[in-house]
Amino acid sequence: MTEIKNDKDHLDDYCEECGCEDESVSQNLLMFGYKICASCKISKTIFPI
Ligand SMILES: [Zn+2]
Repeated sequence: MTEIKNDKDHLDDYCEECGCEDESVSQNLLMFGYKICASCKISKTIFPI
């Protein structure tokens, strides 16, 4: 039962751009609405789609 909860927490920390797991992903999701890591956030800032 605890495995399901832990797995859900992990999914929340996966970057949708590169697929890496980083604690910054959930922070960026809260602040910008994007599930991206710090590295991908910089890429988006420099080269916005
Ligand atoms: Zn990323």
